[in-house]
Amino acid sequence: MKKVAVRNLRLCTKDCICLYVCPSGATDTEDSVIDVNKCNGCGICAEACPSKAISLVPLSYPLQQAKKEAVLKTNRLISLSKAKAEKMAHDLADKCEDDGLYCLLKAIERSSRLMNEDIMRESGYMLPQSDNAKKLIQDIIDKKPEGFDLKKAQKLINQELNND
Ligand code: SF4
Ligand code: SF4
Repeated sequence: MKKVAVRNLRLCTKDCICLYVCPSGATDTEDSVIDVNKCNGCGICAEACPSKAISLVPLSYPLQQAKKEAVLKTNRLISLSKAKAEKMAHDLADKCEDDGLYCLLKAIERSSRLMNEDIMRESGYMLPQSDNAKKLIQDIIDKKPEGFDLKKAQKLINQELNND
């Protein structure tokens, strides 16, 4: 996977070391965008930067696995209920005069938001739906490592079929 260098301007101190070490002149820019057309991803600038302001990032990212309709439908329902819980805790906290209770309600509000975000981000990408996790387990099964319960592992990646 091809990588290119990017500069974090918040960390950059403009000492221009990256400018001198880059073999292709890609760092000759005044903003965070190191010239992707010139950058060959060698990483010399990132090594040389005293402020650790340069990172290498992939030029393109793999496509996300599509979520199944059943997963999306369940997501929507859970998300709605978490959003309601968040709003309810928020409204109650607004009217609350007790410090302890106020803190508790704010914690519930925040926790509902975080749970909602986690659900939206993770569901469909973990077993039994995740293609990546299944592939990883299948790779391990194929190598037949000693002490690894192959039958249970196979059962785990077949889970979704059994649940259908
Ligand atoms: S070497 Fe690092 S700190 Fe210096 S100009 Fe380049 S990115 Fe900025
Ligand atoms: S990764 Fe290499 S080519 Fe790309 S900007 Fe840094 S030094 Fe230049």
